[in-house]
Formats: sequence, structure tokens, C-alpha cells
Amino acid sequence: MSQFWSPFVKDLVPYVPGEQPKMTRLVKLNTNENPYGPSPKAIAAMQAEVNDDLRLYPDPNGDRLKQAVAEYYGLSTAQVFVGNGSDEVLAHAFHGLFQHGKPLLFPDITYSFYPVYCGLYGIEPKQIPLDENFQINIADYTRENAGANKGKIGGIIFPNPNAPTGCLLPLAAIEQLLKQNTDTVVLVDEAYIDFGGETAIALVNQYPNLLVTQTLSKSRSLAGLRVGIAVGHPDLIEALERIKNSFNSYPLDRVAIAGAAAAFDDRAYFDDTCQRVIDSRDTVVAGLEQLGFDVLPSAANFVFARHPQKDAGELAAALREQGIIVRHFKTPRIAQFLRITIGTDEQNQILLDALKAL
Ligand SMILES: *Cc1c(COP(=O)(O)O)cnc(C)c1O
Repeated sequence: MSQFWSPFVKDLVPYVPGEQPKMTRLVKLNTNENPYGPSPKAIAAMQAEVNDDLRLYPDPNGDRLKQAVAEYYGLSTAQVFVGNGSDEVLAHAFHGLFQHGKPLLFPDITYSFYPVYCGLYGIEPKQIPLDENFQINIADYTRENAGANKGKIGGIIFPNPNAPTGCLLPLAAIEQLLKQNTDTVVLVDEAYIDFGGETAIALVNQYPNLLVTQTLSKSRSLAGLRVGIAVGHPDLIEALERIKNSFNSYPLDRVAIAGAAAAFDDRAYFDDTCQRVIDSRDTVVAGLEQLGFDVLPSAANFVFARHPQKDAGELAAALREQGIIVRHFKTPRIAQFLRITIGTDEQNQILLDALKAL
């Protein structure tokens, strides 16, 4: 606290990202990065951008990337927004698409940036509990459950698959949710959809209130580049563009636009690395279950697991002493779970061996 702060800054509750330790030789399974590198074609495209043209501003619209995304999903570029990581895209959606004075509905156990953005943009959060199996029940996302202000809803947001549980909602459930909430924006945060889910982008032509966000940080191995996208009706995209152009004209630099577009173009590499992560996940789940863990069904590049006899905090600390970092949330309902990112087969084996010894 300083005399120079505005009262607004004092009351902010910022997001705390997973640790990025400076130590080397760690088995780093705490922030859901991809264990494989980016597409070699993406790396070549980025290297080709490092030249004298860097004295020039980038394309403010990132059209090259919008075209790659539109082509990948069979859409028009007017249905695509691109930004500096999907966290920034989400921030613009909170700012520009969720109504004030009406609650924003999201699960009680979910991505912890949502309540942070509610605080930043003055949006009222309404947390809807997951069921006893840690699943989203879409029947709970109704006006009746919204409580305050004559039961009106200001928006709905959830990740699919959910984080940190990894549990997936089928496309049919999302369509049902859209049908039951036609007068509010429904944002599906698909940070992990490429690891076994079916994207709701298939529904954007039918539902003008659906916005889907994705990131290149997980399935396309570019967390260090900071690129995210949103897909939806052109009117929703225009709202995001208006916010973006009132905040930062150039959220994506030349290197990012070129690398992200090339990553979307290289389908073969993407399909291959996603499949390797999915196969490794099966091995990790089987290994954890053999050690007595309960593992929630995961469609993501991480698993969420608890042991009936071992304290999760103590397990995380003991793993840490051996240079293995996993994520532990000291939050109600999930304090006995560990969230473990799927690594290379070698890293996964080191983890399983260490847990066995414990
Ligand atoms: C990782 C993640 C994001 C953020 O992705 P960036 O593009 O790296 O900002 C958004 N939502 C969820 C649920 C995530 O897990």
C-alpha cells in the first residue's frame, strides 16, 4: 500500500500463476505446458521474421493468423479474434460481453482467473457448485439459480474440459445450455479441448450468443509466445475488437503472428504431439490408480488425483524435494487433490517411481 495508489488498486485480488522455478533439471509438471516443443515449421516461420522489418509495427489485426484459424475451422475471418494469450482474450470478453449488475455464472471449482477478472471489471460472480463427482451440471445454469436481481444472468463462463478437474462436457450438453440461455453470452474456454474433446466451434454458426476461446499455450506448445484466439458471431468479435482497439492496437508482435499462423497450418505435427500426450495420459492414469489414487476422468493434458490415505500437501512437498513440481490448490473441496501435468514418458515414469517410493 502506498499513498500513490488509487483506492481501486488497493482492493484488487490478483491471479497467482503457477511457479516458473529458476532451477534447472526439474521435472516440471505444474503449469500444463506441452512436454514437446512447438512445430519446427512454426520455429522456422518465427526465425524468418527476425529481420530489419522489426523496425515496423506489426499488422494490428493479425490477419495472417486470423486467416489460418478461419481456414482451420472453416469459418470467415470476421468470426475470429486474436490476442496476447487467451487470458487477454478472456479479459476483453469480461470487459465487453458480460453485463454489469447481473451475476456471471461459473463453477465453484474452475479456472481461478475468472473471479480475478470479476474484481477487475466490477462484475458480480455467482459460483455454481460442481456435483459430488466434480462434474458441471448444466441444469444448474439457469435464471432461477442466479439469485440476485430478479433472476437475470449477466453471462456464463466455464472451461471445457474444466480446469483443474480435467472433466469434459459433451457437445450435446453445451448445446442444451445454449438453448436454455439464449439471451446471455455463453463463453466456453477451450484451453484443453485438443486433448480429447469436441470443440463447440461447431456450434458458432447456429448460436449468436456463443463465444469459444482457445490458447496456443497448451496443445500448440507456444506458452512462451503468448497467443490466444476467440471464435464466435461477428457481433461478439466486434465487441472484442472495440475493447482491444481502446487498449492496445498491437497485442501480437510480428514474430507471434507468424509463429502462431504456422502452428495452425502444421496439422500433422499438432495431431502427432496431441496423440502422444493422450497416450501418455492413459499410462499415467493407470500408474496412479495402481498406487491407490482416485483419478478424475481427464480429457486434458493433466490429471487431477487424490490418495485416500496420503495428504496432498505433504505429497506435493515430498515430490518437490526430489525436484518434481506438481500443482496443489489449498482451496475448499479440492485440498486433497494434486494436479499433475502430463510430461514426456521419461518424466511421467520419474513421477510414478517417486510416488511409489512415498
Ligand atoms: C492455460 C489456461 C488459459 C490461459 O492461456 P494463455 O493463452 O496462456 O493465457 C486460459 N484458460 C484456462 C482454463 C487455462 O488453463
